[in-house]
Amino acid sequence: MSSSEVADGRVIEIEYTLKNPAGELLDASEGEPLVYLHGAENIVPGLENALAGKSVGDKLEVVVPPAEGYGEREGPGPQGIPLTSFANEGEIVPGMSFAVETEDGQLMPLWIVGVEGDQVLVDANHPLAGVALHFSVEIVGIREARAEELEHGHPHGPGGHHH
Ligand code: ZN
Repeated sequence: MSSSEVADGRVIEIEYTLKNPAGELLDASEGEPLVYLHGAENIVPGLENALAGKSVGDKLEVVVPPAEGYGEREGPGPQGIPLTSFANEGEIVPGMSFAVETEDGQLMPLWIVGVEGDQVLVDANHPLAGVALHFSVEIVGIREARAEELEHGHPHGPGGHHH
């Protein structure tokens, strides 16, 4: 295996755009590459798998089905929580996420869907759950991860974590 290929334990830089099946732009790196540690579930599994074995300069069009992206939509759909519960949280903006502790002590992410009257609508589904993800990706950098990065499970430095 060449050291110039995408593989577990390497830090990968990609430029990307993400569109939904209707062709609407959802997200883009816009000249600030996404930096991630391959094999550490930093990115959705369908995209991580598609990038494995690729090289700097490779361009890919990848369609990631929901099961390999942010999951299928599940559960009862948006639930109302009194706005007063968010009194200390600042501005409530759809798309924001926060974590709640379940009865068995697990942290569960919830996303804010909207506000109706004195209720904040929240949903356990990621906003992109149930959506096929259309990625256009170009690999712009590959390097070996440092020991500290492997230990933490994410890259450090420009585009990565700062701590
Ligand atoms: Zn770290």
